[in-house]
Amino acid sequence: MIFNLGSINADHIYRLPHLPAPGETLAAVSYCRTLGGKGANQSVAAARAGERVCHIGAIGPDGDWMVDLLEGYGVEVGHVARSDTPSGHAVVCVDDAGENAIVIYPGANRALEVSDVTSALGAASPGDWLMMQNETNLQIETARLAQVGGLNLAYSAAPFDANAVREILPFVTLLMLNEVEARQLEQAIGEIDVPQLLITRGANGAEWRDRASGEVILCPAFPVTPVDTTGAGDTFTGYLVASLAQGLVPSAALRRASAAAALQVQRPGTAEAIPTGAETAAFLA
Ligand code: ADP
Repeated sequence: MIFNLGSINADHIYRLPHLPAPGETLAAVSYCRTLGGKGANQSVAAARAGERVCHIGAIGPDGDWMVDLLEGYGVEVGHVARSDTPSGHAVVCVDDAGENAIVIYPGANRALEVSDVTSALGAASPGDWLMMQNETNLQIETARLAQVGGLNLAYSAAPFDANAVREILPFVTLLMLNEVEARQLEQAIGEIDVPQLLITRGANGAEWRDRASGEVILCPAFPVTPVDTTGAGDTFTGYLVASLAQGLVPSAALRRASAAAALQVQRPGTAEAIPTGAETAAFLA
């Protein structure tokens, strides 16, 4: 079982002839609204991988459609709190060259109360997994609760925040970084010392290091032609943690995560592009 303390965002995507200059008003060529947030994406990926996922998060009065979508993907949503603060959202401007400019409003994602977390983790058993990223409040409080409860903590240090990472690292079982975050963390603290470390490198695959055994696994990316790589990392990490929770050895869990991400990048969109467990198994067969 996975508990995921994570953001739920409405992504408002505007296609524009060019990104607006200061003071400029521009009409969008098109608009769409989708479910986003690193936390929600990771929950969808882990649920698609067939694992039970309890999402711990919060939405505002405008957010019911996002919870309905999460539930439709098989995520347990009984511990998504309702806040008076508007839901978290992102305003994503994309121009014809694919360049983007993004504003994120954290909103309800940062309005979680400790009781929201304690009531969700009341159902946890030792050996369950807790996932976290940096898009909500209460990470350190939740990491402490996870340690007391004997949970494994899988932490994505994104968006990168050196102080948050420093505080959470002592509680971490598995630290998950992309290449840029790994470089930022090494600059901030020097050598990264955690029981398990995953560094993803886009089309160059991923690297896994186990401190106790000294094992290093290099997991190549599958050679595919991507159409949209947004959410590749969340697909990989959600699938990876689900696969570990299901008892796969790291090399098999990594291969499955890499396959899921390879399928996801070949489809437009983010959560809606995450493949099912059956699609991933067929790709690997
Ligand atoms: P993030 O989205 O967090 O920046 P990455 O870009 O490192 O994460 O991608 C995560 C994983 O997704 C990679 O390790 C790889 O397995 C897969 N992936 C990403 N881009 C591609 C690609 N172009 N082709 C195949 N797999 C990819």
